[in-house]
Amino acid sequence: MKTTGEVNDSPKGDRVHDAIIIGAGLAGLVAAKSLIAQGLDVVVLEADDRPGGRLKTDRVNGFLLDHGFQVYLTSYQTAGQILDLKSLGLKSFQPGAMVRCSNRWHTVKDPLRSPPKSMLWDAIKTIASPIANWEDLWTLFRYRQGLMKLTAQEILERPGIQTIDRLRQIGFSERIIDRFFRPFLGGIFLDDSLSMDSSRMEFVFREMSLGTAALPMGGIQSIPESLCKDWKPGVLRLRSTVAACDQESVITSDAKRVRGHKILVATEATGAKRLLGARLAIAEPLAWNGTTCMYFSIDRHAAPTREPILFLNGNLPSKPAGFSINHVAFPSLVQPSYAPDGKVLASVSINGHIEISGQQFIDQVQSELEHWFGWTVSRWEHLRTYSVPCAFSSPSEPLLPSPQRGLYKIENNLFACGDYTTTASIEGAMQSGLLAAQAILESN
Ligand SMILES: Cc1cc2nc3c(=O)[nH]c(=O)nc-3n(C[C@H](O)[C@H](O)[C@H](O)COP(=O)(O)OP(=O)(O)OC[C@H]3O[C@@H](n4cnc5c(N)ncnc54)[C@H](O)[C@@H]3O)c2cc1C
Repeated sequence: MKTTGEVNDSPKGDRVHDAIIIGAGLAGLVAAKSLIAQGLDVVVLEADDRPGGRLKTDRVNGFLLDHGFQVYLTSYQTAGQILDLKSLGLKSFQPGAMVRCSNRWHTVKDPLRSPPKSMLWDAIKTIASPIANWEDLWTLFRYRQGLMKLTAQEILERPGIQTIDRLRQIGFSERIIDRFFRPFLGGIFLDDSLSMDSSRMEFVFREMSLGTAALPMGGIQSIPESLCKDWKPGVLRLRSTVAACDQESVITSDAKRVRGHKILVATEATGAKRLLGARLAIAEPLAWNGTTCMYFSIDRHAAPTREPILFLNGNLPSKPAGFSINHVAFPSLVQPSYAPDGKVLASVSINGHIEISGQQFIDQVQSELEHWFGWTVSRWEHLRTYSVPCAFSSPSEPLLPSPQRGLYKIENNLFACGDYTTTASIEGAMQSGLLAAQAILESN
């Protein structure tokens, strides 16, 4: 993606844009796209050298390496309307998971999501495992049906409690909570303790029940890139960090001034707080959940599976000491473009931000993986490790109290959006961008 345009518009700095958007994550890109579609003169200033914010992919020796394991849920409604899903070439994981427990692999599948011919067999395999029993399956069925009767908005507006307490309240056994929900939901929210807000968990649970988890052909970064690929030069200005903003202009870190009739702060919560200060009514301190994702290349004939399914650690301690692998996925078995011919890509996720300590850490992870997949793991070739300290703002409580969600206008000409105003997800970020653009258009 090439950088477009200079940061300062004219030597005098007298050009006034209709809107300036700070941040080219999904929220900022969607807002910009909507405003451009209405004929507005928009400029997007992005600190990074590429658009996409937290959705990043590197191409390394023919592999596509996303910065942290991320999936697009095919049930996302707003995202589905904005994106050209066909051109993204999504391919889906099999629903369910393989769970490692007592040194063996067990299949856990919701039989109602299995093809008719394997429904009964999947139910039998699941209840024969040490993960779930009949009651859990029945509870899962009732719980899911209940959630599907509600809209995503209704779920998000319900008062939340800690997820662990909610799962117990619903009636799930400690067995399925520890062995399945802890790695599964803990892997989604990057929180093995399951302390995240239950309304957020239920939003994701509903989306997962309605759709599948998918990967785009070009890597996760191809999602934001698809939003700005047709923009004119000068609209997206990369490597442009905004240091300050008010209602009519922004100042970049190299002291250039860009003027606009409307200013939209579309950064992550921490950046928004830095730029807007007390004007942004979000609770502090802002805490973040992080993740560490390690990638390996495997010779295709030596791959431990051919199944496009998630492999979960069913033995996670609730209070981890050191590190534990949360899950392993093989993205190229879902989306072949993630690996070159003859190779399989393995992605190994560990909750929490771990300071990378070179070969010793890789050796430790590989030796744990040998217990999972056997001695051939020693032949896996390490590609890269991504440590993402700020993946989600800590989700034990929504940052904005419920009635304030959707409040995108900060002051007359100053607006804010980002996933922290809705849900920390691709869907939430895109929704917030759309709503902020509407608020800007209505304010004219
Ligand atoms: C590891 C990981 C796994 C995830 N897994 C999933 C998943 O499986 N499914 C899902 O739906 N979601 C997932 N998410 C969440 C999803 O990626 C985010 O919710 C979403 O991308 C947030 O978009 P955003 O636009 O709100 O913020 P961001 O993507 O953070 O964008 C903010 C942008 O603002 C820029 N910026 C900040 N300050 C300035 C400044 N002063 N000047 C100029 N630019 C600035 C930043 O560089 C950034 O580009 C995951 C996130 C991570 C990190």
